[in-house]
Amino acid sequence: MLRIRKARIVKDKQLEMVNIYIEKGKIKDIIPVDNALLPAEKEIDVKGNLVFPGFIDAHVHFDDPGFTEREDFETGTKSAAAGGITTIIDMPCTSIPPVTNEKNFNYKLEIVKSKAYVDFAFWGGVTPEQVESEEYKKSLPALKERGIVGVKFYTVSGMQLYPRMSIPDMDKVFRLMKELNLVCAVHAEDCNLVDYYSYLMQKMGREDPESWSEGRTYAAEPAAIWLVVGIVQKVRNKLHIVHLSTKEGLNIIRWAKDHGLDISAETCPQYLVFTAEDFKKQGAILKIAPPLRQKEDREELWKGLKDGSIDFICTDHAAGRYPEEKSSPNIWKNYAGIPGIQLAASTIFHYGYHLGRLTLGEIQKLMSENVARRYGLYPQKGAIKIGSDADFTIVDLDKKWVLNPSELESKGKYSPFSGKEIRGKIYLTIVRGKVIYREEEGVIGEKGYGQFIKSKSR
Ligand SMILES: [Zn+2]
Repeated sequence: MLRIRKARIVKDKQLEMVNIYIEKGKIKDIIPVDNALLPAEKEIDVKGNLVFPGFIDAHVHFDDPGFTEREDFETGTKSAAAGGITTIIDMPCTSIPPVTNEKNFNYKLEIVKSKAYVDFAFWGGVTPEQVESEEYKKSLPALKERGIVGVKFYTVSGMQLYPRMSIPDMDKVFRLMKELNLVCAVHAEDCNLVDYYSYLMQKMGREDPESWSEGRTYAAEPAAIWLVVGIVQKVRNKLHIVHLSTKEGLNIIRWAKDHGLDISAETCPQYLVFTAEDFKKQGAILKIAPPLRQKEDREELWKGLKDGSIDFICTDHAAGRYPEEKSSPNIWKNYAGIPGIQLAASTIFHYGYHLGRLTLGEIQKLMSENVARRYGLYPQKGAIKIGSDADFTIVDLDKKWVLNPSELESKGKYSPFSGKEIRGKIYLTIVRGKVIYREEEGVIGEKGYGQFIKSKSR
């Protein structure tokens, strides 16, 4: 038995000091610190630091296999470990081949499982070609059986192997996914608006950061959310909107929730901290899709997290080769993405908790419990409960530090947070009872320790 001593946990909105007992990677007992100690062979004294159920990042692109010059499962999950993230869910489209059938799923799992430092789950995929041939009717139930958390759709896509879906295609696939009780996750930016205005900007010879924002015009996000909500109103399937960036998009999600649709949404630290103004100053480093918006959008996203209309926080971790893919003076030639997983927890403590926007209890839900519940991982993940996996994100809440991007474990050693003082640092990361990161020592886990976690949604 292992004892985690003096763990400060958030319970019913209160802080409570407990000792947590772990056996075979699971939580065996949780006992107030004043009670008598139970016998244990090993002890980790966490000295009253805050202990959360392991944080889950449900939206990452670890690029393996296929784009490993940008990131791979080893560097991606190592970066997760250093950032206090104990489970990641990898997207289906930024590996080759995309996870669109059982064979591709097995192939990817075989390659990545010996590299993972933290536990991981997979998103599945569908292509328009599979809808055309009706192959999706076989591939989706098989992927469901293998344990995917849901399927990712794009309303606009620059990926050759993973094109966007039309409304009729989404309607068909959403119907099957309703039967299978799978979440449909959508990257919502209307392709007609994005394609046309991006074309126009480039035709005008614009190369500045603002031309990227103007091309991927504001209305594209609410327009695409309305379109998919329109389908979900007919089909009544489970919908999830990824990386929400606009106030107007959020208002549609609120409307859909008020009207009884089963819809959830996530946003990312980059949309909660930075705006189009920062993009103008920092340039390519902050190039992302959808682009950064205005201050009023950013503040509304915080409100959405607070009032429950946004369900959780993910990173959309996507590393470009640095500096090659992130330093062209022409914004259109740069890679769109930020490797954010190592900083997400710290930045949410800094900008969320310390700046008074979120409570610790809210952060616990937004970074862990709500994600696990939505994707069928709860209560194995997302809870400090007897019987749950002993995954913990342990935080030194007041520690101030300054990020040097060379310290990132990701292959992409760049960050818009570079040089900023952040208050809140990961103290320990524990996955199934094993310490895999310690502040003074760095990542001390082993690759291959991370396990594939099957979604249990039925
Ligand atoms: Zn993404």
